[in-house]
Amino acid sequence: YRAKQNGGPLCVFEPHHEAVAREERTLERDLRRALQLNQFALVFQPLLDFDTGMIAGCEALLRWEHPTRGQVPPSIFIPIAERTGFIHDLGLWVIEEACRTIPQFPKDIRVAVNVSAVQLRAPDFAQRMLDSLSTAGVSSNRLGMEITETALLSDDQATNSSIRSLARAGVEISLDDFGTGYASLSYLRKLPLHKIKIDRSFVKDVLERSDCEAITRGVIRMAADLGISCVGEGVEDARQLSWLRRNGCSEAQGFLISRPLSAPDLKNFIASWDPQHVAA
Ligand code: C2E
Ligand code: MG
Ligand code: MG
Ligand code: MG
Repeated sequence: YRAKQNGGPLCVFEPHHEAVAREERTLERDLRRALQLNQFALVFQPLLDFDTGMIAGCEALLRWEHPTRGQVPPSIFIPIAERTGFIHDLGLWVIEEACRTIPQFPKDIRVAVNVSAVQLRAPDFAQRMLDSLSTAGVSSNRLGMEITETALLSDDQATNSSIRSLARAGVEISLDDFGTGYASLSYLRKLPLHKIKIDRSFVKDVLERSDCEAITRGVIRMAADLGISCVGEGVEDARQLSWLRRNGCSEAQGFLISRPLSAPDLKNFIASWDPQHVAA
């Protein structure tokens, strides 16, 4: 306000900040209605297993089709949903929708949902997930959950016990975007994690930058030594794919294999998948 009175340079930015805040409030309001209005959908991106050359599972990714804005990316609306607490309802919808979809896929295809740190801190989270599975009549070993390092950072009791009870029930736990959070590696031995997903930012430059190569190689090695499998995220070209395979990565995900697809499209994609495509 002082800047305004004095006619200082902040004046120039103030209308901009206000516009951003207004924009956020509008999205927040639209977001809350979007669930009733059926504007959300899941798409599924396959994961390639290097050992078998087959599609081993997929990741469910949330899409919001806004009536006037079109597709709003999750990087915009997830943080708003987290800040407002709406993520609890939205996240439950994601889990229920994934459980409804799983029976359409072959039995060996596991579907992983992304779960935010805010959801994990709710004491009844694990029970809700298990209830969704049993309501849909889906076995818990067909579901996976992707969490980020930041979710584990605070060493929260409710979070840790949710992870433990879900893992015990057979839900596969993946550590997402590995290397971008605050890597306190102690949780790797404290918690039952099954998979590490190496963030796209490392995979992207694995052939161009020696630091990315060193980090990726190190993560693959560490995962192997811990008996955890490891996924390269965001694989966009064949050279990245063969680098990951050569260097002992277990799985790959990215536009090279497939973009995220609707459930029927993923079903067809799996049916027509030829392991020879990626052999070499
Ligand atoms: P994520 O979990 O790391 O998901 C991978 C993101 O990378 C997806 O973006 C996917 O479309 C994109 N991607 C996959 N392969 C490639 C590639 O080869 N190149 C490039 N450039 N990108 C690739 P998307 O769908 O926009 O999701 C962004 C993030 O939003 C996700 O990152 C996840 O953190 C979050 N998110 C998505 N769905 C949900 C959800 O249902 N719940 C929560 N809590 N978060 C979600
Ligand atoms: Mg993910
Ligand atoms: Mg990821
Ligand atoms: Mg990522």
